[in-house]
Amino acid sequence: MSSRHYDAVAFGAHPDDLEVAIGGTIVKLVRKGLSVLFVDLADGEPSRYGTRGERHAQAEKAAKILGVNRVTLTLQDRLITDVIEPRLEIARLIREHRPRMVITTAGEGVHPDHKAVTDIVINGVFYARLPKWDELAVGDRLKDTGPHEIDRLFFGHCRMETAWDRFDFAVDVSDVYDVKMAAIRAYESVFSGDRASLLDKYAAEDRYVGSLVGVEYAEAFRSRSPLLVADPEVFLKTRYG
Ligand SMILES: [Zn+2]
Repeated sequence: MSSRHYDAVAFGAHPDDLEVAIGGTIVKLVRKGLSVLFVDLADGEPSRYGTRGERHAQAEKAAKILGVNRVTLTLQDRLITDVIEPRLEIARLIREHRPRMVITTAGEGVHPDHKAVTDIVINGVFYARLPKWDELAVGDRLKDTGPHEIDRLFFGHCRMETAWDRFDFAVDVSDVYDVKMAAIRAYESVFSGDRASLLDKYAAEDRYVGSLVGVEYAEAFRSRSPLLVADPEVFLKTRYG
């Protein structure tokens, strides 16, 4: 694992979760020149959608389309749980890559892995900032890394959950929407046959969020802590002011 700096690190439970929830926003960050790392906690195996190894190859292809680097951790798909070990793993990655922004998905329980990743990342972000891990036996996992405090933790909407009508902000992804869809389509074995209609469902949600803020397509986000701006003019025009 290289310890290069990334401006943003995004954590998803499985390959394709991040593309679906925040793919358009990521393309916008990358086009601004920010470096982004995707971290999948599990490799998505065993998969109902494709033979072993297929999803990994698709994830690599999707990462190229979005312009991000990608790593896969070794947690077991279906059994992801918010316990100490994965929290420390997230903390280690944050301390190594020292991002300003961390993004994950907000799962509420439809898929237990998606609920777990939300909590694991919240806790991992907190662990990352704490010093003196060498005084704990488990601190070995963070050896040779120093405390790092991120600027922002944002949550994209887990698409297995009911769409949000309240959120903290939305990103207009209309101009990069084709790139988001191309990245999702890289998962041919997942979104084909009768599951191809999922792409329409995702687009419908992005259009719905867009309709709430007066643009064609938008991705909704919640923020871990209150949003702070030095200049309130950074906000764009949305419907009804
Ligand atoms: Zn998933």
